[in-house]
Amino acid sequence: MKKLMHFIAGEFTSPDLNEYIPVIEPATGKPYASLARGNANDVDRAIRSAEAAFPAWSSLSPGDRSEYLHALARELDNRMEDFIQAESKDTGKSVQLAREIDIPRAVNNFKFFAQLIIGEESEAHTLPGTINYTHRKALGPVACISPWNLPIYLLSWKIAPALASGNTVVAKPSEVTPYTAWMLGEVCQAAGLPPGVLNIVQGFGHEVGQALTEHEKIQAISFTGGTATGKKIAETAAPAFKKISLELGGKNPNIIFADAPYEEMLATTVRSSFANQGEICLCGSRILIQDEIYEQFKKDFIRKVRGIKIGDPTDPNTFMGAIVSKEHFQKIQTYIDLAVEEGGHILTGGKVIEGQGRCKGGYFIEPTVIEGLSQSCRTNQEEIFGPVVTLQAFSDEIEAMELANDTIYGLSATIWTENLSRAHRIAEKIEAGIVWVNTWLHRDLRTPFGGTKQSGMGREGGYHALHFFTEPKNICIKYDSI
Ligand code: NAP
Repeated sequence: MKKLMHFIAGEFTSPDLNEYIPVIEPATGKPYASLARGNANDVDRAIRSAEAAFPAWSSLSPGDRSEYLHALARELDNRMEDFIQAESKDTGKSVQLAREIDIPRAVNNFKFFAQLIIGEESEAHTLPGTINYTHRKALGPVACISPWNLPIYLLSWKIAPALASGNTVVAKPSEVTPYTAWMLGEVCQAAGLPPGVLNIVQGFGHEVGQALTEHEKIQAISFTGGTATGKKIAETAAPAFKKISLELGGKNPNIIFADAPYEEMLATTVRSSFANQGEICLCGSRILIQDEIYEQFKKDFIRKVRGIKIGDPTDPNTFMGAIVSKEHFQKIQTYIDLAVEEGGHILTGGKVIEGQGRCKGGYFIEPTVIEGLSQSCRTNQEEIFGPVVTLQAFSDEIEAMELANDTIYGLSATIWTENLSRAHRIAEKIEAGIVWVNTWLHRDLRTPFGGTKQSGMGREGGYHALHFFTEPKNICIKYDSI
């Protein structure tokens, strides 16, 4: 069984404890690799290596750093198929989804920031006899911590801007899905990235993640994960005045008006509900439907959901694969039971599926649609992060907005309407960092990405990310006039 080691100072290295954690394939429920269990000593070694690499890396011109990022993109691209298969095996997502979204996006993350950094401009403010200009400086060693749902996609989304702007990185992938992060070490070696510029420490969040965020040499923490973990990181970072960017959970509304472009809305709503088994922070788990079309939508939606192909992620026709872990699988089942206790009526799904053939023992759950729940119940308030959506009816814009905004979260929202004025009105008032009108998951990497309320703080994407990973300094120069 393959041993997935840390990647520190350009080498794969054993864990200080010499202990390993089993890595489970969710589609079979069986271990297929073992993972280095990192501790504070491993984290310290990685940070020292990042610290040693920082002066030379941050002194490179943006053009030279850009070349390295392009090389990382190229090497990843060369191994595209290996990464697709590995990501699917590690997460339970369909190979098809990893091929369409995860791995191409990871390649693009490196390409995008490689290009952006060479076009970066700085501000200057002039007055008669003075000029102020903004000098942006890399921070030093920074931490990038990512979750299990889009492993290499999200890790590279943090690493690429951090490196592009001259920082060195200690990255910590989720212990549940470490495989492609481990492969990224090989990519760094093939791309000739100088040792210590990117270090990857494997292991548990409460051990490696905690030690990383507490370490005095870490200047900034870019974190994506659950809201509870985000709070813990904020508590650790605040007394040390570390910069933090937190991309957290969501309970996103998908608001469907009677004048929605119906067929497109229906097809997209199936995806926005169940893509990646509903394990995307941007999934629309609360579907709000205008009264007039509620019954029609319900009928058509259920028919389409029943047609979803679930099963072996390696089957090219599979749309929904396995849930990422046994623990998460059980959590989703608990939420389905809770929905019924709270008075919900399951319209379709709700049951565990027995995997067939090699997938016997895998973690499969039917796509589940529930109606009849109150807005205030836990099912409609708490993030489930699985293939479970609820339907609620609304009569007008005001009610739609009240329902949409009535949670602690504010990550994303989708609005379906052909009425342009209404789309603008609602988009401006809705409490979310990202609003899609008549589309979903349509991404432009230059745009600000992040949540409001308990969905996070700070923005990733484009210059927002480059600015997070640098410290601006104002330099004021007085000069004599002739
Ligand atoms: P999580 O439990 O919060 O874990 C996220 C990462 O933090 C993992 O690498 C985890 O390691 C690590 N971690 C755990 N405890 C830590 C600590 N005390 N200090 C530092 N790091 C620690 O989240 P998850 O269950 O992996 O992911 C699901 C959540 O991510 C959902 O809430 C989802 O909405 C959110 N998410 C948000 C976005 C967004 O852009 N807003 C995108 C994707 C996912 P271990 O896994 O090894 O414990």
